Amino acid sequence: MKKLLFVIFVLGLALVSCQSQKKENSTTMENPFFKEWTTPFGVPPFDEIKVEHYVPAVKEGIQQQQAEIDAIVANTAEPTFENTILEMDKSGELLSKVSGVFGPLNSANTNEEMQAVAREISPLTTQHRDNIMMNPELFKKVKAVYEKRNDQGLDAEQLRVTEKYYQDFVRSGANLSSEDQEKLKKINTELSGLSLKFGENLLAETNKNFKLVIDNEADLAGLSEDVVARAAEDAKKSGEDGKWVFTLAKPSMIPFLQYAENRDLREKLYRGYFMRGDNGNENDNKEAIQKIIKLRDEKAELLGFDNYADYVIDNNMAKTPEAVYDFLMKLWEPALDMAKQDVKEMQAIINREGGDFKLASWDWWYYNEKLRKEKFNLDEGEIKPYFSLQNAKDGIFYVAKNLYGLKFIKRDDLPTYHEEAEAYEVQEADGSLLGVLYMDFHPRDGKRVGAWSTGFRQASYTKDGKRIPRIGSIVMNFTRPAGDTPALLSFDEVSTLFHEFGHALHGLFTDGPYDRTAGSVPRDFVELPSQIMENWAAEPEVMKVFAKHYQTGEPIPDELIEKLQKSGTFNQGFITGEYVAASLLDLDYHTAENAEIDDVRAFEKASMDKIGLIPEFIPRYRSTYFSHIFAGGYSAGYYVYYWAAVLDTDAFYAFKETGDLFNPEVAAKFRELLAKSGSDEGMNVYVNFRGKEPSIEPYLKKKGLM
Ligand SMILES: [Zn+2]
Repeated sequence: MKKLLFVIFVLGLALVSCQSQKKENSTTMENPFFKEWTTPFGVPPFDEIKVEHYVPAVKEGIQQQQAEIDAIVANTAEPTFENTILEMDKSGELLSKVSGVFGPLNSANTNEEMQAVAREISPLTTQHRDNIMMNPELFKKVKAVYEKRNDQGLDAEQLRVTEKYYQDFVRSGANLSSEDQEKLKKINTELSGLSLKFGENLLAETNKNFKLVIDNEADLAGLSEDVVARAAEDAKKSGEDGKWVFTLAKPSMIPFLQYAENRDLREKLYRGYFMRGDNGNENDNKEAIQKIIKLRDEKAELLGFDNYADYVIDNNMAKTPEAVYDFLMKLWEPALDMAKQDVKEMQAIINREGGDFKLASWDWWYYNEKLRKEKFNLDEGEIKPYFSLQNAKDGIFYVAKNLYGLKFIKRDDLPTYHEEAEAYEVQEADGSLLGVLYMDFHPRDGKRVGAWSTGFRQASYTKDGKRIPRIGSIVMNFTRPAGDTPALLSFDEVSTLFHEFGHALHGLFTDGPYDRTAGSVPRDFVELPSQIMENWAAEPEVMKVFAKHYQTGEPIPDELIEKLQKSGTFNQGFITGEYVAASLLDLDYHTAENAEIDDVRAFEKASMDKIGLIPEFIPRYRSTYFSHIFAGGYSAGYYVYYWAAVLDTDAFYAFKETGDLFNPEVAAKFRELLAKSGSDEGMNVYVNFRGKEPSIEPYLKKKGLM
């Protein structure tokens, strides 16, 4: 059963609504999903696939998989690994084939018709998943195999995939009495309603309930022309023609906090931001938080855990909340020290300028910009000519060749889903095929914002052991070429390309016999393969190879490299500190004794007082607008971004320590980590690569925190 089944159809649902047009006119024979694909490497025949092909193919795919599941259940032989786990793992081939095309295209190249299809198939696949996960007869068989797993002569991979399927069922409540299952369903329903409400409240508090209206031009002092122009536009849009409006959306708020000289207005705007959901009005989120925490605690207890953080983190690399606390405090202390030092330096600027006040949280951005100018001055315009898109592509290919011997060969003969998407055949050093990678660089209508890595087909094996190579895809929204000037990227964009390319390599290398475990990694591991690649992009030795001026061909000067590197350590006390403070708040909520939060404000204050948070900054998210944990999927998991950052830096040091950024032995071991990432617990996979658990020091050094 491909992982795709569980994730792909949730994308793109909340988009524009339009009447779904039923088109049942295509016959089964014409539907390319019902035929074998004869394209090179079996890539999807994008030119033949039409919108009306998806729904019938999904319906047929669901029926086929349901028949496969029914056959497992109907089998009267004693349940074994082969007749239960393996059959389940390899079921649903057609459904994977359709969702593997539909999911990625609904993100990278969608339109109203595609979105209508998404709305039509999403409930079908959700229902289908529930039918499998809540099938008591199927679970009985899985459980039977699980219980005798140690005396069936299973190998390590077979054991792991058996345990994973068993856990999937148990974590969904399959082991509970029918009475408790009803309780769990009720809790899940209530929780999703509350999360929805939390999100809606926050949306209203961000977009509707507050705006800063300025009608005196003098109050704009310090702001750049384009910021003022945008504020005038925002005013027009909200019926305040001739005035200027600033909102709590970050692109509007941050420049104001950075540059507006009027301190009272900075305070007014920032207060608007950090009081969201905490204003005692109809959009107040405090009650929702109390209910969510209580219900999550009940859910964890039903499923046999002490608290909700235990339940979530049990599935992660960190394993226990204690390990995460320990990790976060190692970051917190140096970050707090550095932030205190920055406070002193910013206070010195205030005093020097004759300001008779103490630095407050609404002053941080403003005085930090002054400090940044004093310490170094990085101009994006100077950097960009060295980072044409072609250079950046040369950079990723150079790194992949030197690490793994890979060759990327552009294949204009492969079908693509859009004329701007490029297809590459990926060859091993010996010329054999590793897989296919599509790359799609620029924004357009129908592409969602951001950058991501996905795939049209995951690397896998058939039941009889034939390897099926990966067809991957990375999608970005980079600056376009302008006239005769090629696309010139910011260094952020270059890092993004290396990042997504790292996810792509992970997918290409993945090599495991079972679909449930191959390449399937915990949430706090998933950004290791991607973030590690950003380290090569930032190494002077590598930059000198690929960062060449697009007109003169000169490599990037040392002085610019140095500025780029310094900018990576500036303000880290605040950046790391506000993140870690929010992560600790998240954990405190989800480990709270008896989970009765009487007073959200008091709970938050006690949590922050405990770690000695200084009043000059506040956590990145206060409780009432912490949507990652109360409306999104990051509850007891906000820490994962930094966990992965520590991992990737430590892993990169394995190369650095040898004095060779492309050390072949380390590269071979790292490739093994990528290939086998789902074959064992995350920490075991890591230790197998590194010879020890990750250490935090390389990260602290990189960020200037030690
Ligand atoms: Zn990523």
